[in-house]
Amino acid sequence: LNVDAGAPTIFDKIVKREIPATVVYENVKVLAFRDINPQAPVHVVLIPKERDGLTQLSKASERNKDVLGELLFAAKVVAEQEGLVEGFRVVINDGPQGCQSVYHLHLHLLGGRQLKWPPG
Ligand code: 5GP
Repeated sequence: LNVDAGAPTIFDKIVKREIPATVVYENVKVLAFRDINPQAPVHVVLIPKERDGLTQLSKASERNKDVLGELLFAAKVVAEQEGLVEGFRVVINDGPQGCQSVYHLHLHLLGGRQLKWPPG
């Protein structure tokens, strides 16, 4: 069983504190930090600390279901912590057409301004 499928990414270095990031929330399973290139006043990236093969949502397997729930719930907690009382958006980019650039599954939490729908 290859529990670490996929090449290491920049997010592994953030988990290991090998490169700096502004961490806004952390629990046993999840790390959340500010995006280096924010697309909204609040732009937080939430990742599973253990990638466990989860390079992208489309690669998820049954054993990843718990951490997927952990990530979504953590997004709600961070939204509250960031004071996003008027609303927010949670996004997962998957693959080339989804504009995914880092192949370690992550949620984007965006808020702090009026967002447009649909996105581009
Ligand atoms: P994706 O395009 O894969 O959905 O999102 C990857 C996100 O990670 C991008 O929004 C990008 O700005 C962010 N990102 C890439 N490298 C770093 C980094 O070294 N530090 C932080 N904080 N964010 C990063």
